[in-house]
Amino acid sequence: MIVMKFGGTSVEDATAIRRLVSIVRRQSHRRPVVVVSAMGRTTNGLLECARMAAAGDMRSAQSRLDEIAAHHFKTADQLAPQPEIELLRETLGKRFIAIRSTLEEIHKTGQTGHLTPRLSDAVSSNGELLSSPIVAAALRAEGMKGVFVDVRPMMRTNDDFTRAAPQFEIANPKLKEGFTAALADGGAPVTQGFIGSTADGVTTTIGRGGSDYSASIIGAAIDAEEIQIWTDVDGIMTTDPRIAPEAAKVKVISFAEASELAYFGAKVLHPSTLLPAMAKGIPARVCNSRRPEAAGTSIVRSAPPSRAAVKAIAFKRGIAVINVTSDRMLMAHGFLSRLFAVFDKHETSVDMVATSEVSVSMTLDDTRRLDAVAADLQSLGEVSVERDAALICLVGENLKFTPGVASRIFSSIERINVSMISHGASAINVSFIVDGASVERAVRSLHHEFFSELDEETFEPAALAQAVA
Ligand code: ADP
Ligand code: ASP
Ligand code: MG
Repeated sequence: MIVMKFGGTSVEDATAIRRLVSIVRRQSHRRPVVVVSAMGRTTNGLLECARMAAAGDMRSAQSRLDEIAAHHFKTADQLAPQPEIELLRETLGKRFIAIRSTLEEIHKTGQTGHLTPRLSDAVSSNGELLSSPIVAAALRAEGMKGVFVDVRPMMRTNDDFTRAAPQFEIANPKLKEGFTAALADGGAPVTQGFIGSTADGVTTTIGRGGSDYSASIIGAAIDAEEIQIWTDVDGIMTTDPRIAPEAAKVKVISFAEASELAYFGAKVLHPSTLLPAMAKGIPARVCNSRRPEAAGTSIVRSAPPSRAAVKAIAFKRGIAVINVTSDRMLMAHGFLSRLFAVFDKHETSVDMVATSEVSVSMTLDDTRRLDAVAADLQSLGEVSVERDAALICLVGENLKFTPGVASRIFSSIERINVSMISHGASAINVSFIVDGASVERAVRSLHHEFFSELDEETFEPAALAQAVA
């Protein structure tokens, strides 16, 4: 068994879904479970509808929803087997009626402008529930046994809406049983990423970009042989090709390296994606659905280091840096524990920490409770907050043990102010903070420094990649 996950652009329209069908067909002997995202831009579109409804503007919400519906109906008409078109239209139609009634509930019950996380999920979860029956029908149209599987009764989560945590002890056996049954007799199950449900059967979502994580959870639960992430780039690249178009493909990367990249902002994988795969040692692969013949990036337990020590550069914008300065810290034990108790109270996690004799600097990615955290920290010392910072992270096995890396990093961005550095906490990453306005410039300089001469055992140059296309 394998899991094949297709992201938003890989199911964005009939052309993309036809490509998906031929990719799945080529591997049908491996008994694939197909996990799909919402069609490109649908999740954002649904969330816009929800916000419009919350703001009292039902007319705009309905017209945005009509656009989404038109695109889904058109795609369904283009792909479903002729005798199934009416039934599929009916399935989609019922879902749009349900969305409409949730929007009305938001409109009626909400305080103006406020959207509860629970109702937000009730709307945003529909993208995957709309794309998956279309994809299942498209497989049937091409002679495969596409079976729509609703993942929600199996993917049990807690009720932390919009970022619900899967409850593995309940979900795993259900997923295993459900997909084993769906695969029987040559079935090709098509299910949803991103969504789950609580013990009471209320729909949840596991966080934006979460379909990758769903695929890995399902893969681990069914003991898949491989987890494939099909997306719109050739694999894991040396950095985001939107920032550095010359970014090259990394051929093989370790679980640890890929996890660090995902955690520190490489959008190609949701930050938690590799945890379930890693726990079971299931290899993953990131591939381009537009160029299925290319090998993609293999993610395996251990990968050889690259010659330049660095494998890839990730970055995250919208980081806040909190500095706490206190004379009382000098020689005082228990200070850090009181400090972190504040973050614990506000359920906010800290990414990077640096301390001196009288001050502590910390970075936060989740800034929702920033003001409350900063207010509580006042009791421990003088607090200052820097918003709109960015974190840059270089990843590579052995980075910590390679002489000269730090000097290459910081001399290549010498005109950019670096406010915090973390090196050595992990053997495989060096991260630091710059101001948000400098992040792209810094990433391009670093990319040039480390990847202008590629070691071709580890990387596949972008030019070559394009030549194949
Ligand atoms: P999907 O909808 O398939 O899940 P995403 O948009 O979530 O796709 O992720 C793919 C995008 O991730 C790419 O288009 C690319 O811009 C971005 N990205 C960021 N960092 C990297 C990286 N190191 N390697 C590859 N892609 C990256
Ligand atoms: N559709 C969801 C999102 O846009 C999940 C995903 O695509 O991974 O966030
Ligand atoms: Mg994604």
